[in-house]
Amino acid sequence: MGPRALSDEAAGKAPSLGAKSPFELRVNLGAHVSETDVRAALATGDMGFLHSFTTGSALDGPGVRVVAWTAGCMWRCLYCHNPDTWTMTNGIPVSVTRAVEELRKYRAGLAVMSGGFTLSGGEALMQHRFAVKLLAAAKDMGIHTALDTHGCYGDRLSDADLESIDLVLLDLKGWDPARHRALTGMDIGPTLDFARRLAARGKPIWVRFVLVPGLTDAAEDVEDVAAFAGGLGNVRRVDVLPFHQMGRFKWKALGLRYQLDDVRPPSAEEVERACAAFRAAGLKAY
Ligand code: SF4
Repeated sequence: MGPRALSDEAAGKAPSLGAKSPFELRVNLGAHVSETDVRAALATGDMGFLHSFTTGSALDGPGVRVVAWTAGCMWRCLYCHNPDTWTMTNGIPVSVTRAVEELRKYRAGLAVMSGGFTLSGGEALMQHRFAVKLLAAAKDMGIHTALDTHGCYGDRLSDADLESIDLVLLDLKGWDPARHRALTGMDIGPTLDFARRLAARGKPIWVRFVLVPGLTDAAEDVEDVAAFAGGLGNVRRVDVLPFHQMGRFKWKALGLRYQLDDVRPPSAEEVERACAAFRAAGLKAY
């Protein structure tokens, strides 16, 4: 990481890590970091790129959560509501020490509220060494840890790394290979492999499934995802997340072509139907 990033941080001039929500648009906050320094940060994990820290989430794991949102994602989900996090250098360059100190502020409160720390993104495993260091530090502080991931880079984590993670929030975005690729730009295979590995180790998973009318709501797809998740044996809960348009403004602001202008959020009945498919596979779904 270059001298400017370090000196900004040392001088207390670095942008605030706190945000009211991940829907704040953050662009180019790490653009001054050279490619060489980005590569060095990825190799060591001593520095990372964060969109922000947010507090008070009741959706990203058990209890009340502090969430660190990483920057960087190679997927291109059509419904992505934080496309500013696709680019790593849109995030704030942060030393792992600073990130840990930020988290330490919330330690006592999280203990009182039976909450924890969730690392989300973007895709947190784009910066897997930084992710592991931050999660391990949280665990050392006695904080419950969760990793929110699409799982495609799960093989970057060693079995020892997995010990720092109490819960994986696994984003399953579909089932049919062609539809999954059309939706995300990527193949689903590595995600399923990671899920099976977590199952073999008995690591708890909460599945997250974004329900988008016309894109992810084909009954056979939902049933196939449910059957897979139900067969794993370590899925403790499924959250069916209704698609919304809150991220649309980011696509427009970034000059990206947004294809879901005409897609409406699913109705309560449609969400319930998807939940019913997961329940039929023996899972708790909300
Ligand atoms: S994996 Fe997440 S951050 Fe990446 S494009 Fe998809 S929704 Fe956006």
